[in-house]
Amino acid sequence: MTIDQFNFAGKKAFVRVDFNVPLDEKFNITDDTRIRAALPTLKKILSDGGSAIIGSHLGRPKGVTDKFSLKHILNHVSQLLGVEVQFANDCMGEEAAIKAAALQPGEVLLLENLRFYAEEEGKPRGLADDATDEVKAAAKKAVKESQKEFTKKLASYADCYVNDAFGTAHRAHASTALIAKYFDKDHKMFGYLMEKEVKAVDKVMNDIRRPFTAIMGGSKVSSKIEIIENLLSKVDNLIIAGGMTYTFTKAMGGSVGNSICEMDKLDLALDLIKKAKEKGVNLVLATDAKIADAFSNDAHTKFCPVDQIPDGWEGLDIGPETEALFAEVIKHSKTILWNGPTGVFEFENFTHGSRAVGEAIVEATRNGAFSLVGGGDSVACVNKFGLANGVSYVSTGGGALLEAIEGKVLPGIAAISE
Ligand code: AMP
Repeated sequence: MTIDQFNFAGKKAFVRVDFNVPLDEKFNITDDTRIRAALPTLKKILSDGGSAIIGSHLGRPKGVTDKFSLKHILNHVSQLLGVEVQFANDCMGEEAAIKAAALQPGEVLLLENLRFYAEEEGKPRGLADDATDEVKAAAKKAVKESQKEFTKKLASYADCYVNDAFGTAHRAHASTALIAKYFDKDHKMFGYLMEKEVKAVDKVMNDIRRPFTAIMGGSKVSSKIEIIENLLSKVDNLIIAGGMTYTFTKAMGGSVGNSICEMDKLDLALDLIKKAKEKGVNLVLATDAKIADAFSNDAHTKFCPVDQIPDGWEGLDIGPETEALFAEVIKHSKTILWNGPTGVFEFENFTHGSRAVGEAIVEATRNGAFSLVGGGDSVACVNKFGLANGVSYVSTGGGALLEAIEGKVLPGIAAISE
């Protein structure tokens, strides 16, 4: 079932959203992007004449914690939605059940933070550090047992289930995946945001227009191994950027000075180079670097060949030759995936490479390429450089997007699709 096909008139929908927004010390929302992202779904339900029971997590509470209460965002959600949203102080218990049952078409109920209950994540809490394996196993079994009741209760509030929380789609939690089994396939669906994310991922994983170029940046190769390996069987060009460059350079016998370099991953880097060759993937590595004599925005800088970095200096961004090399590949691509900056973009003096990559992606997009940016810092990059509107899609899911491009099945997606 798709959300556009479904008529919510007279129906109550349990909508799992990701309202895990940042709050300042006075509980003001400092960035409401995630709430705004769920509005189209909520508005469709209400304009059809349905009602919505909203479930979300906020932060990582270890139990009931005022700091992580969703009551802090209630007024803002009401304002954005243009409806006075009701609140249940506990997502379980009588109050929630009564309020959900009494909900009229056009009305909205926000449930208290689902993660106030260990059952949401299905992980035991409060175990002593020295708990034995037996105790741990028993606690895990107990929480898994009570998780069934918890999930069933959440499902009992509604006639249909809408998952619009891509950010938690890689978690098999009660409200993100397990709940779906209480609804038949005609009564569960993705929300609009989730639909867009799933389509975008599909375009780079399955429905690929070639040439397909992935740009992998960030700090360490160790955190991106599975992604790189999965991408090697999909892409035509794999651009390696960021801190992981130097592990490759070192592995090939170059001098990297003080650059970030994982000495225990040199063999892995060589193996990835070999695999790329075997699969006919054009592995594009930096040829020059912007180097600094300290890890600081104010350090002295110069450019040098990437494999001739002197002692006492470190590569903090790509150089102009590499920028041109990367841009050339990107501009000739029809599908583009960008994850991770080319350098320490938090320092103004080392943003140039990431900006150049972003601009090349925007140009390729203008010429008809599909471009997906996501998975953490590259989103911050496109926002910082004001390029977000020039790419095809900026993903809202950090970990979820990374797992999807690792080729993993995301429980939140599978639960709806099955
Ligand atoms: P990741 O979370 O793996 O995507 O890495 C993002 C981080 O990588 C950012 O905070 C960047 O500052 C960092 N980074 C990128 N290039 C370098 C580099 N050459 N040296 C050190 N850190 C880097």
